[in-house]
Amino acid sequence: MALNDDQRTLRDWVHGFAADVMRPAAAEWDEREETPWPIIEEAATLGIYSLDFLANAVLDPTGLSFPIVLEELAWGDAGLCMSIMGSSLAVAGIMANGTPEQQAEWMPQCFGTPGNLKLAAFAVSEPDAGSDVSSLRTRAVYDQTTDEWVLNGVKTWITNGGIADLHVVVASVDPELGARGQASFVVPEGTPGIRMGQKFKKMGIRASHTAEVVLEDCRVPGRCLLGGKDRLDERLARVREGKKASSQAAMATFESTRPGVGAQAVGIARAAFEYARDYAKERRQFGRAIVENQAIAFKLADMKMAVDAARLLVWRASWMAATRTPFESGEGSMSKLFAGEAAVKVTEEAIQILGGYGYVREYPVERMHRDAKIYTIFEGTSEIQRLIIARAVTGVHVR
Ligand SMILES: Cc1cc2nc3c(=O)[nH]c(=O)nc-3n(C[C@H](O)[C@H](O)[C@H](O)COP(=O)(O)OP(=O)(O)OC[C@H]3O[C@@H](n4cnc5c(N)ncnc54)[C@H](O)[C@@H]3O)c2cc1C
Repeated sequence: MALNDDQRTLRDWVHGFAADVMRPAAAEWDEREETPWPIIEEAATLGIYSLDFLANAVLDPTGLSFPIVLEELAWGDAGLCMSIMGSSLAVAGIMANGTPEQQAEWMPQCFGTPGNLKLAAFAVSEPDAGSDVSSLRTRAVYDQTTDEWVLNGVKTWITNGGIADLHVVVASVDPELGARGQASFVVPEGTPGIRMGQKFKKMGIRASHTAEVVLEDCRVPGRCLLGGKDRLDERLARVREGKKASSQAAMATFESTRPGVGAQAVGIARAAFEYARDYAKERRQFGRAIVENQAIAFKLADMKMAVDAARLLVWRASWMAATRTPFESGEGSMSKLFAGEAAVKVTEEAIQILGGYGYVREYPVERMHRDAKIYTIFEGTSEIQRLIIARAVTGVHVR
């Protein structure tokens, strides 16, 4: 599969940023466990942290530019990649559910400008509603007298949660309708009633901020309901009449973002494979390079095969999404599932190839392994991806 000139130029440019800016900073920000503002600022100055850049990558008609960018950034470092790309989750939420006017108003505010950076967050998960997004307890109640929505609830595990300038919050408007009674709301900068709860200390992607978001009588104007009230009322009426309604607010976002998550996992796996391959050629035991042992070289063969297979699944799903080819066998889920599990396996093998050196923080592969693990958990766990694929290929509502 050959990339065109534009895609190669884009890949090489982003790779330069990943190699020159992200790689040297990765270990420091992993230790600090803080949002890496100087790195985001540099990405913004170069134009990588911006709506224009995201839009150009996403709008490539072949679908390949976006996964290429994400693979390179995650190759640089997954935690820094997530801190640069975290805001784009909120953009995806606005894209999936907002009107063109809402998209034009809110999407630029997710990034800000160099020197005046903004962050955005997409808040779905709750303490008692992770995989089961139909059971969200956060409520959105309409106050007709002021034309405002009043949000109450607690969100958890939110990337950029509480430090974001703009939050997209998925809440239940009619709890009796489960997932089909939910809607997405923009909570703009400076809105009272939204605050950060606990900030989590994590195993990996530690440069990316993850925290609870607490909503207490948080009032947003009516125009902050993504899609608008008329569309929501029509949708709820259809559901109440037992008619099929369009896809749920959270699910519509996740469907479009899964191949991109897989692409990041490919980047981590590739980074670990390359590091282990180069190390195996250098490291000598028993008078020869360890790569001369089949036990090591075969591992490298399997690692490279897993990286390439994962990339092909990601590119296929991205191409299908861009060309509006329906996912008939859960191809989006397949790409995320395979790539996430490949990243965990490949990074673990990389540690094995480095032996004791692989287990200590002076070398990057233990960080890559810690980073890789989240890719089997967030944006739908591996089990949930298998459910989606199994249901798609059998036609049975597998549980
Ligand atoms: C670092 C990080 C960043 C995140 N960022 C965001 C974010 O920005 N926005 C956001 O909304 N959320 C975010 N999340 C939340 C993430 O999407 C959830 O953690 C994930 O969906 C899983 O939910 P849970 O943790 O509650 O696990 P649970 O749903 O409690 O699952 C626990 C285990 O049970 C399994 N399981 C559950 N149901 C089934 C089933 N029906 N069949 C088989 N197995 C099942 C799961 O696969 C898993 O192994 C983030 C999480 C982390 C850790």
